[in-house]
Amino acid sequence: MSAAVEISAPLVLPFVDGRFVDPHSDRAVPVINPSNGRQLLAIPAGSDADVDRAVQAARKAFEDGRWSEAPPSFRKKVLHRFADLIAEHAAELDALDAGEMGKPVGQLMGSAARAAGCVRFYAEAIDKITGEVYGSDKNDLVLQRRVPRGVVGAITPWNFPVYVALFKIAPALAGGNCCVIKPSEWSSRSAIRLAQLAIEAGVPGGVLNVVPGVGETVGRALGLHNDVDMISFTGSTVVGKLMLQYAGQSNMKVVMTETGGKSPQIVFADGIDLDVAAASIASFLVTNAGQICTVGSRLLVQRSAEAALVDRIQARLQKIVMGDALDPKTTFGPLVSAKQHARVLRYIENASADGAQLVMGGKPALSQSGGYFVEPTLFRNVAPKSALAQEEVFGPVLSVIAFDDEDEAVRIANDTIYGLAAYVWTASLTTGMRMAKRIRSSVRIHSAAPTGEGAGYAATNEATRQSGIGAEGGITGMEGYLRRQRVWFSHA
Ligand code: NAD
Repeated sequence: MSAAVEISAPLVLPFVDGRFVDPHSDRAVPVINPSNGRQLLAIPAGSDADVDRAVQAARKAFEDGRWSEAPPSFRKKVLHRFADLIAEHAAELDALDAGEMGKPVGQLMGSAARAAGCVRFYAEAIDKITGEVYGSDKNDLVLQRRVPRGVVGAITPWNFPVYVALFKIAPALAGGNCCVIKPSEWSSRSAIRLAQLAIEAGVPGGVLNVVPGVGETVGRALGLHNDVDMISFTGSTVVGKLMLQYAGQSNMKVVMTETGGKSPQIVFADGIDLDVAAASIASFLVTNAGQICTVGSRLLVQRSAEAALVDRIQARLQKIVMGDALDPKTTFGPLVSAKQHARVLRYIENASADGAQLVMGGKPALSQSGGYFVEPTLFRNVAPKSALAQEEVFGPVLSVIAFDDEDEAVRIANDTIYGLAAYVWTASLTTGMRMAKRIRSSVRIHSAAPTGEGAGYAATNEATRQSGIGAEGGITGMEGYLRRQRVWFSHA
């Protein structure tokens, strides 16, 4: 975000100890609606003092046990009520995000309604996580308890604001922790609305606090705070690495990071239905305008199927409905900001200079709207080592790379700094099994369209390499918010 300025638009206020409070910083930064380029509101830049006040409130709430020591049945009931309220207010929450960061309200992926399900999963998990009793001798009894870590700082990105925030808040609160959320500067309001709904659901004040602001002030202060026990971060790899540094420079807090990706779609010409593969690859690419950590932005296709698949994807990409994120008919919204718009267009420009062949798109779109739209863009002949194939573009740009055999596909697929997700399209069970073992990230093997529900919220994933540290999702994901305490009784 650019330098702070004085602003007269409505100011988003921090939410601490169950109520709105005035910011300590007197600087504000504008928040622009990316669908039309007009200023929507302003957020305080934030300061160390803003963070300190919220951390103190969370610490006090944690230590007096109003939540951390409440009966599990109480926490469960309250989190179920919280989920109900999120579901009831889903349209409102999605609209807040759409106005600030441009995710179309009609898009189900990462929507508030889906996020409510995540809260229910963790509400149910509260009394399912247990400790252990070790084998020991006649005079000893040795146990391991699972206890909350304490104050959790949650730092979130803008691409799925409600969903990513709840993916952290729900397991953290279910585990008995108290939280301070620092939402992205591009999408602050939904996190604050969630904190209000939590109060309405019965979460005591001070348990869930929100400090809006910019990363360099609020995010940094939270990462460096000596009274924060854990940072749960989702965002770019560059900032994820800063979180590790902050922990080292302060109190060695636990750090969990979910960061970037450059996920391959790998299509074998072995009888797989290319229409089905094309539909799925294209619709994933345009969801949230390609601003998804796990988006399949590299298409590795077996050479003999390349032309047919590219034609089909192109046809699908032409069917988008581009427009204002608040219009329910829109299937393809703007990029989040002018900065992101310029960045994506720069990648497109450089790709042609690097020898990639532009097949479709490549230009700004709906310029008359004032919004930050870029056409869905397809490149062929992308060199696997080029910036377009190696770096996270975070926009609707697909790089097509042809391969001849499985070994080559695996080599290219694994050859980035990331390890977040991969998608394999094959009609052969044997190929699918081999690929599942050879790809260094989570893998989805498709022999059909991705229509099932799968494991839902029970699934855990642990990214590799520079896509993050620690597991999110499922019961294992909740365990990350719990400390293992050994308790040793010696008796006669
Ligand atoms: P970002 O790293 O720029 O910002 C993420 C958060 O960090 C924001 O709240 C921001 O204010 C804060 N921040 C920025 N600079 C900071 C600093 N110097 N110190 C402390 N905090 C700072 O990421 P973004 O642009 O908001 O989101 C896009 C990124 O998020 C992409 O890289 C995407 O892959 C990643 N992401 C990953 C996952 C996942 O599960 N792996 C999910 C969603 C998004």
